[in-house]
Amino acid sequence: MKSWTATPWTPLPGHAPAPTLYDTRLARTEALPEAPTAGLYVCGITPYDATHMGHAATYVAFDLLHRALRDAGQEVTYVQNVTDVDDPLLERAEATGVDWRELAAEQTELFRTDMRALNVLPPAHYIGATEAVEWIVPWVETMLERGTAYRVPGGPDEHGVPQPDGDVYFDVRAAADTEHDPARWFLGRVSGYTEEQMRPLFAERGGDPQRPGKRDPFDPLLWRVHRDGEPSWDGAALGRGRPGWHIECTVIADRFLGMPYTVQGGGSDLRFPHHEMGAGHAFAVTGQEMALRYAHTGMVGLDGEKMSKSRGNLVLVSTLRQRGEDPRAIRLAILAHHYREDWFWTDELLERSRERLRTWRQALQAAREAELTGPREGEAEADESPARRLLRQVRERLGDDLDAPGALRAVDAWADQALRGEGAGQAGLVRDLIAARLGVAL
Ligand code: ZN
Repeated sequence: MKSWTATPWTPLPGHAPAPTLYDTRLARTEALPEAPTAGLYVCGITPYDATHMGHAATYVAFDLLHRALRDAGQEVTYVQNVTDVDDPLLERAEATGVDWRELAAEQTELFRTDMRALNVLPPAHYIGATEAVEWIVPWVETMLERGTAYRVPGGPDEHGVPQPDGDVYFDVRAAADTEHDPARWFLGRVSGYTEEQMRPLFAERGGDPQRPGKRDPFDPLLWRVHRDGEPSWDGAALGRGRPGWHIECTVIADRFLGMPYTVQGGGSDLRFPHHEMGAGHAFAVTGQEMALRYAHTGMVGLDGEKMSKSRGNLVLVSTLRQRGEDPRAIRLAILAHHYREDWFWTDELLERSRERLRTWRQALQAAREAELTGPREGEAEADESPARRLLRQVRERLGDDLDAPGALRAVDAWADQALRGEGAGQAGLVRDLIAARLGVAL
């Protein structure tokens, strides 16, 4: 699928060490490996609603990571999916009388436009679920052969609605064989949740714990066989149908990155069941950990309330753009919070970010002018120029579990100095630094 464009990455002088990152599975912050290459997979959208601030914050956070790895000299392969066929998308299409393909195409295009405006570096592989079906089928067949998946017989479901024969589910208990291999996946290995914590989340987040015929309430869907009026694809031995959500990401990630890849990323609501089950599928087929690290971003609310489709209080990036907001100010508003924090969007926050952007631009202009006039008479050459110091500080802050607020404070301090006439010189370096590491083109 077509990706999007952003201002290309420009290398900075020297290079940063590999950043540290908080890992959900290990429950601690660890340095990422120093390696020539890195694989980054971030779960994409289900295209039935435009990009809201929670999505934007997630993709901007992993964009910071992408940039941190690039600055550490690593060749990054970034992969993202689009769940362009799934129940919520089909339900929305049905409710609004739009063809599901049109709805998906239109919303995916809007997402690309938002990502371009926010200057998020594009994935090398941007893959739709509908493009991945033929790669997914052999995975599910393998799990059936090995006994880590099974078919559910037809009959009335938990709502009494008749269902056809043959939907395929992942067997979480059969897949968890830690007796033979303690390093193996088991339920809770990635998310760290107890079964008590998992139970309500599984039902809330697309699971069907009550479906009759399942071996365990937590077993997730791998393959949904064809129903009248629903899109379906050739599933070879599985029969016509469409894939479940977790298997979609696992297979796309394996195809383009191999297991284990460096970082699996997404919002904190993907810890369970999505990344938990993805890791289970990966272990069941490849015998490998899915990713070396699992990283999760906080949730974004609005004015003290949870932001959700059902409450109708989503802040959309496209709405802000249409209102004429500078996307760089939107990006700075996101960066003012640590990515793991839960935070609230407010108009004041956006106003403060606009001001910050103005100040930085003025400071850069002041530094440029100072560059033209040269150092003032009697001004001693510092050991470390203000621009060099800023380069070091921004690298330090962003290298420490992506401390964007700390990096912004360092730029603020440099800007104060420059506006006082003390930040002479190397305006180009500062501009390149802010563009490369923070993704803000001044
Ligand atoms: Zn995913």
